[in-house]
Amino acid sequence: MSEDKKLAAICGLDCEACSVYIGTTEEPDRLKRIAENFDQSVEDMKCSGCRSGNRSFFCRTCDFKDCSEEKGIEFCGECDDFPCEDFRTFQKARPHRIEIYEDMKTISEKGWDEWLKEKRKEYSCPECGTINSAYDITCRKCGNEPSNLYVQKHKIRIIEVLKDK
Ligand SMILES: [Zn+2]
Repeated sequence: MSEDKKLAAICGLDCEACSVYIGTTEEPDRLKRIAENFDQSVEDMKCSGCRSGNRSFFCRTCDFKDCSEEKGIEFCGECDDFPCEDFRTFQKARPHRIEIYEDMKTISEKGWDEWLKEKRKEYSCPECGTINSAYDITCRKCGNEPSNLYVQKHKIRIIEVLKDK
């Protein structure tokens, strides 16, 4: 499997823009902080992407992976039951999942590789090009606000969640 495909999650998330992935690949302090928040070891928190074979404790409990394998599909959007109740519940739970219905549509229309290119752009800082997560209000490298287009679009809902923490 290509390195890129490992980052194209079954549910339609771009793993590259996940705070856990960013922590694993670039920012050990961030990973440590997240692990502490979840009361997990840093080792269990590490993640190299949905299809990488090295997923965080959180993604190891994900039902979509087993489910998609049983059904012989690669993305939830290919399923006859899409969107199932599990997917709908998952989508609603956190604001970094706001666009995953749209993502499924893009993946089926243009292919996952084209979709990933578009997501990469959407999550990149307009100033310096660094990929930021949906919860980085300012760019983690250059401090630009917004950190990316996704945050700009969904800022109100993102801030609500950050406040509740
Ligand atoms: Zn930047």
